[in-house]
Amino acid sequence: PIVVWFRQDLRVRDNPALHAAARTGRPVVAAYVWCPREEGRWPTGGAARVWLHHALDGLTRTLTRTYGAVLVLRDATRTSSFEELRDVARACGAKDVYANRVYEPWKIARDDTCEKALASECGIRYRSFNAGVLYEPWDARPDATDDACWNSGYGSVRFFLRACAALGEPPPPLPAPASMRARLPVERRPRSVALESLGLAKMPRRRGGGGVIDWAAGIRDAWTFGEDGADASLRAFLAEGLAHFDAKRADATTARISPYVRHGELSVREVYRAAKAASVGSRKSQARSAGVFLRRLAWRDLAYWSLWRFPHLADEPLRPQYASQWWAVPWDPDPRGRGDSVPRAVSIVRRRWDVFAPCSNDANLRAWQRGITGYPLVDAAMRELWITGYIPNYMRHVVAGFLIEYLNIDWRHGQLWFHDTLVDADVAIQGFMWQNGGHSGMDQWNFVMHPVYAAKSADPDGEYVRRWCPELSKLPRDYAHCPWEAPATTLARAGVALGREYPKRVLVDLEGARLKSLRAVVEVRRA
Ligand SMILES: Cc1cc2nc3c(=O)[nH]c(=O)nc-3n(C[C@H](O)[C@H](O)[C@H](O)COP(=O)(O)OP(=O)(O)OC[C@H]3O[C@@H](n4cnc5c(N)ncnc54)[C@H](O)[C@@H]3O)c2cc1C
Repeated sequence: PIVVWFRQDLRVRDNPALHAAARTGRPVVAAYVWCPREEGRWPTGGAARVWLHHALDGLTRTLTRTYGAVLVLRDATRTSSFEELRDVARACGAKDVYANRVYEPWKIARDDTCEKALASECGIRYRSFNAGVLYEPWDARPDATDDACWNSGYGSVRFFLRACAALGEPPPPLPAPASMRARLPVERRPRSVALESLGLAKMPRRRGGGGVIDWAAGIRDAWTFGEDGADASLRAFLAEGLAHFDAKRADATTARISPYVRHGELSVREVYRAAKAASVGSRKSQARSAGVFLRRLAWRDLAYWSLWRFPHLADEPLRPQYASQWWAVPWDPDPRGRGDSVPRAVSIVRRRWDVFAPCSNDANLRAWQRGITGYPLVDAAMRELWITGYIPNYMRHVVAGFLIEYLNIDWRHGQLWFHDTLVDADVAIQGFMWQNGGHSGMDQWNFVMHPVYAAKSADPDGEYVRRWCPELSKLPRDYAHCPWEAPATTLARAGVALGREYPKRVLVDLEGARLKSLRAVVEVRRA
């Protein structure tokens, strides 16, 4: 038999490791090992764990329905991936382990260790494939081929696109294996734990023996998990969304595929091919939209390249001089110094905080996290994030900009919160984007989204705000984004008392705060 080790590729379509194993005609044993200890400083956050639970459930169903196979689940919280794989291979008599590659530097190191130990201790061959990116980081080498990227300090995605263009088109996606041998004699079947026992979607209980706090209900309502959900999202986007791919709206018509791509229920090569095909022979506007969309996929590869090239991307300023930048709320690398703002799901008590429990020592940071800053667009987005585990790209820029430029809070606090609340939380993309927002990244943001002016173009009718901040639902559209400007009678008619139904602004002097941020950056640059 061959053991196929699933990781961030929880699908049967365009799964090169599974495809190669099935083609040998030998029995295939599908395995997944849960090992948060091997995830470096970024163990999977709370919302992403919930997603992972459902993605594993979906993969199990697909394997059983299509091939009569099971997914062997192993819990390595007290062991290691190597030990679990070794035991699975020994149980079924496998001499090969196939896996699709992952790109976080600490996981690359883990895979190297596994490969060596499997070979030296058990005589097991390890073979790996690319299923996660269009171009692997060590192939797309902009710094090796393009001097300009060093001289101009990187910036944008163009330098990376140039390097990728030299590599030609990415390979086409593979179909799901038409058939696969999966049956093993009972005595050769490896032991598997129950999915529930991994505790990925376990909800906390209220203190004092109260009921369950089901914080994942909104996530379950908002999404259809698994390959079928991924496929449906992509098809719907190609049919209706691609032509209007408008990034500057709160309710932007984007693909909403990021969590599927993150957990591997959807292959990025399949997305790429489908978008390319949709752009050929289509109207000029659709071809242009497809071009913008395809660039998003290039940004994704660039983020992976960046994390591979700069392993501290998610932890320290990429431009080292920014380590001395002034922040009203600086970053403390010691979680104890950050009070309760350690990721809730991976905190010592291993449970996510009740919505009403404090999340951080700092009042402004806490208000941002909980969506009670008094700025409706920011609050709407942060509440959508909390409830559904997702917000579109434009809104991520709005809330990140607000945290950094107006609240003057170190970007790493925002990154940590996103890591725990996003269902698509991805260390590479997070590090890349938050660094850019925090001035220390490759492509420093040279814009800031004013929470009121941006709102007027992103959500002109206030519908987005009304959906996520229902306490403002009766306010006339002119005041939906600035309730503090509404006359007292209008507020009273809408049933809003600022400071009671809806919070007062945590910060009134936006321009003053922005100036502080600018000064801090200028100081760094001068020094
Ligand atoms: C502060 C901040 C944090 C972010 N954190 C994450 C994260 O943890 N995980 C994540 O997947 N995306 C992240 N993004 C990027 C982007 O916002 C999301 O990928 C996008 O909103 C997902 O929605 P969609 O599937 O509709 O994307 P679309 O806009 O339709 O794009 C399609 C796909 O392209 C990729 N993509 C899109 N934008 C980017 C980008 N800027 N950088 C890299 N890849 C991109 C994603 O895989 C996405 O699914 C972050 C952006 C910001 C500003």
